[in-house]
Amino acid sequence: MSARILDGKVLSAEIKEDVIRRVNALKEKGVTPGLAVILVGDDPASEIYVRNKGKGCEETGMLSRTIRMNAGTTQEELEAEISRLNDDPSIHGILVQLPLPRHLDERAALAKILPGKDVDGFHLINAGHLLDGTEGVRPCTPKGALYMIHSTGLDLSGKEAVVIGRSNIVGKPMAMMLLQENCTVTICHSRTVNLEEHTRRADILVAAVGRAGFVTADMVKPGAVVIDVGINRVDGKVCGDVDFENVKEKAGWITPVPGGVGRMTIAMLLSNTADAAERTSERE
Ligand code: NDP
Repeated sequence: MSARILDGKVLSAEIKEDVIRRVNALKEKGVTPGLAVILVGDDPASEIYVRNKGKGCEETGMLSRTIRMNAGTTQEELEAEISRLNDDPSIHGILVQLPLPRHLDERAALAKILPGKDVDGFHLINAGHLLDGTEGVRPCTPKGALYMIHSTGLDLSGKEAVVIGRSNIVGKPMAMMLLQENCTVTICHSRTVNLEEHTRRADILVAAVGRAGFVTADMVKPGAVVIDVGINRVDGKVCGDVDFENVKEKAGWITPVPGGVGRMTIAMLLSNTADAAERTSERE
């Protein structure tokens, strides 16, 4: 039987509806949530992501500001811009679009963002909160992926979860979030031996590798929840890390690419920005 599709369009619309309701409530209190995106250089993929983030703000009634800095921007100039946004009361969320040009220090830039305005959830303080299981801003992509997993209605406690990929922005936080859901978690990476022995055990399999068609049907346990985080371009077409056509015949649930996790990432960014504005308005 073919897997049920976890539709990112439908699920992200649910989140956006909730964000719209919260934005309207904030506006009644005189607060318009504001998201600032800093884009350094002219990477075409980053341009598309930034445009989509702006569109998301518009749809949900938030203020969106894009700060474009040229590719030769210095670390000092970048950090000065972040400081200005930290001090700007109309901005509740700050996002530095990654990757930055090579000469810039990504860690130092992210560390400069106030943890409360760090809507990407990449600041070390927020990473610490995730590890600690305490309240903090959670990274958007794994948060969106977890929402999709929850939408299956499965009880996650005790389930075998396997995450392929250990990046700080997807793999590691995804694994921590699944651990908090009481899954038994395995993290696989490029040095993992006998990868498919791990993946075949997975009730929940998350692929965040960056290689088209990497997860094949023989690597998947029948009935598993398969979450495809990958965004790859093959012959101009966007596809994920999972061999969707074949894996969907074996999995219980599967996310498509496009129309899957990517949409959830933006929805969660908007939700994190609304959270940040709510925290500010509660303090006032
Ligand atoms: P990274 O390149 O930072 O990480 C890739 C991970 O995959 C690494 O941990 C790497 O292992 C692992 N890996 C590479 N080759 C293999 C292999 N042969 N076997 C097992 N593991 C392997 O990528 P990101 O985490 O940033 O992104 C992953 C994918 O998700 C990309 O396609 C990216 O475009 C996409 N993405 C999608 C988002 C969305 O909104 N949908 C948001 C962010 C990313 P090692 O650590 O050993 O090198």
